[in-house]
Amino acid sequence: MDELDKIQQLEKHSRLLEPEDNTRTYWQTQTNAYAESFIHKRNTRKAYEDSSDNGLGLLDSPIEENPLNIDEVLKLVEKSIVPPGIDLTSSRHFGYIPGGGLYPSALGDFLAAVSNKYASNFFASPGSARLENQLIRWIADLMGYPETAAGNLTSGGSVAHLIAITAAREAYQLKAKDYHRVVIYVSSQTHHSVLKALTVAGMREAEIRYIPVDKAYHMQTAQLPAIIDDDRKKGLLPFMLVASAGTTEVGAIDDLDTLADVCEHNKVWFHVDAAYGGFYILCDEVAAKLKGIERSNSFVIDPHKGLFLPYGSGTVIVRDRRHILAANSYQANYMQDALQDEELEPASLSPELSKHFRGLRMWMPLKLFGLKPFRAALTEKVYLAHYFYKHIQQIPGFEVGPFPDISVVLFRYVPSEGDVNEYNRALVKALLKDGRIYISTTTIEDNYYLRLAVGVYRTHLEDVELCLQILKEFTAKA
Ligand SMILES: *Cc1c(COP(=O)(O)O)cnc(C)c1O
Repeated sequence: MDELDKIQQLEKHSRLLEPEDNTRTYWQTQTNAYAESFIHKRNTRKAYEDSSDNGLGLLDSPIEENPLNIDEVLKLVEKSIVPPGIDLTSSRHFGYIPGGGLYPSALGDFLAAVSNKYASNFFASPGSARLENQLIRWIADLMGYPETAAGNLTSGGSVAHLIAITAAREAYQLKAKDYHRVVIYVSSQTHHSVLKALTVAGMREAEIRYIPVDKAYHMQTAQLPAIIDDDRKKGLLPFMLVASAGTTEVGAIDDLDTLADVCEHNKVWFHVDAAYGGFYILCDEVAAKLKGIERSNSFVIDPHKGLFLPYGSGTVIVRDRRHILAANSYQANYMQDALQDEELEPASLSPELSKHFRGLRMWMPLKLFGLKPFRAALTEKVYLAHYFYKHIQQIPGFEVGPFPDISVVLFRYVPSEGDVNEYNRALVKALLKDGRIYISTTTIEDNYYLRLAVGVYRTHLEDVELCLQILKEFTAKA
């Protein structure tokens, strides 16, 4: 076969990657029909599905030379991907920090994929880069950050922490030889992604100083200046303090303003983990508790939690853009035509180069809904958590943790006899088997707790009522 024949033959097959109009329409119609039926069944599905398949069905369908049709593909999705595990879109999903996944984000992802805009680089996709910078500026303004700030839309809070830590490292011009002397101040409630990010950043040998928490799990501030002083006297380098604006376990917001004072006075980088709590600044009931975040050097905030986006959306913002740029900007000869200074380049603010155009999935819901329903939904979640906190205590045997700072309630059942932890472990097992609600757990100081995290936008009073009713039923015999 000569070269031209070969090319033509290959073309015939490679053209299969461009579906005909009617094929595209059919795929779209079938996929949309499946999505619609998924959404319509939201109230009848379990919040947790312990299926025997658990994804195994996928393995019976290996990746092969020949294609499947869309109906067969959707059958696999319906059997092995969507049902098993937690229904993270469920109004009765109260585990971890839920969000739900807003529908317009799916449309944003769809358009991002169809257009394949390159949101890393202004020259290639000026509109996408500008859109992402506009969203970051909006968040920076919400938090009261100055014009000098810059940030990045990341895959989530974990990568956002990594970026903040490397920016701080640049700001303090730390080198590997310094790491063993570096001290990072956290509390027992600090999210593990911070420690993971420190490890990824190569700073595992840094000293992690656990500052005690008060009864409501806020980092204690009184001893902090003396602790930092002590470290300095020992020849160590107090480097960074990580405060929580809504811990994952209990939702506690640290005293950010006081911590900002301490950090400022001691020249310690003040980083705030607002992955969960940050967007609650949109509701008056919580905004005052976030005071002080505007004084931080960097913060992390997750649109896939507080803005109810589907997973894959975090944000980092650094007060002084020079530091995040120092940690992430590189130039390559092959990209010399793309240099410009009109807009910050997303790729210069992140370890990623080619990346998903995440801005569109955040922008679509904000534009299509406006901010008003977001404020209402966040405030509703806060009131629902308060409602649960009050009513769970009226069911005999239940005890609660601290009054929620945001929308997480810690609680457990204390049976008249027997081991409390064992009882609650069995209770959660029974709840999982039932599946109507999903609640996750944590262990604090050897006590096993259930946590109700109200955070899915579609969770309303009836869902919390159902939750109370189920908990009452399941403990009635104890
Ligand atoms: C969820 C969460 C994180 C981690 O963020 P991911 O988006 O899951 O990577 C960090 N901190 C807190 C407080 C969180 O709730």
